[in-house]
Amino acid sequence: MKPILRLEQVSKRFGGVVAADDVTFELMPGKVKGLIGPNGAGKSTLLNLISGIYAPDGGDIYFDERKITQTPAHKRARMGIGRTFQTPRFLQRSSIRDNFLLGTDLGDKLGYFKSYLGCRGSDFDKEFEKLLQITHLEFDWEDDINSLPFGKRKLLEIVRAMLAHPRVMLIDEPAAGLNNKEGEYVMDMIRYASREQGIGVMLIEHSMEMVMNICDDIVVLSFGKVIAKDEPKAIATNPVVIEAYLGEETDD
Ligand code: ADP
Ligand code: MG
Repeated sequence: MKPILRLEQVSKRFGGVVAADDVTFELMPGKVKGLIGPNGAGKSTLLNLISGIYAPDGGDIYFDERKITQTPAHKRARMGIGRTFQTPRFLQRSSIRDNFLLGTDLGDKLGYFKSYLGCRGSDFDKEFEKLLQITHLEFDWEDDINSLPFGKRKLLEIVRAMLAHPRVMLIDEPAAGLNNKEGEYVMDMIRYASREQGIGVMLIEHSMEMVMNICDDIVVLSFGKVIAKDEPKAIATNPVVIEAYLGEETDD
């Protein structure tokens, strides 16, 4: 099997800060790769480089063996790179329906939503039901997006991203601000996405329990550099990793 995503010596600087330093790794379809490291290590920057929000200063990014280093973000989304953000991104003071119609990363899939919202009863119905079942979400399309509590908005953002049929899903700190149950639903969704849908998942998460539980392997970043790449068990006992985390207590 070929990797669905590959980073080759990717670098990114912000002034004097090296946020990504020669980062190389690959992600296989159906696998979950954890991205961990202290605050400011460059985790979110990497997701932004992969989704095309930032352009790297050096190195290359490949999606499905095609070089996408210079491909604009909306095209990458259309190609099948989905993502969610540390803080869910929705239109404020708008209905849930509008937020689905205007999903920023949905690109060409918009027609799909329009036809769905216009006439129910397609396969889409089943798929959508399944996603809502996994996340235990219930809502009315006309509800204001802000009527949903934070945790539900985060879950809904994952559902929205899943509906675009991504082949790679970038998930930035899904469990932050969620209660235990919602955290379980996130894990169920990630399992469904990877194991059942074959999506390659990149997961940034501070909850070590979640990371250890769900990731096939883990990349550890410190000051933009990959300091370890291994399976969860080996990462947990890696002295270099433990060292990098010393003194790290605060959350983003
Ligand atoms: P993490 O997600 O691991 O906490 P980030 O990727 O957000 O880390 O940030 C890595 C480093 O890059 C930090 O020092 C941060 O301040 C810096 N950085 C990130 N984005 C920008 C930006 N748009 N402009 C300037 N500096 C940035
Ligand atoms: Mg971050």
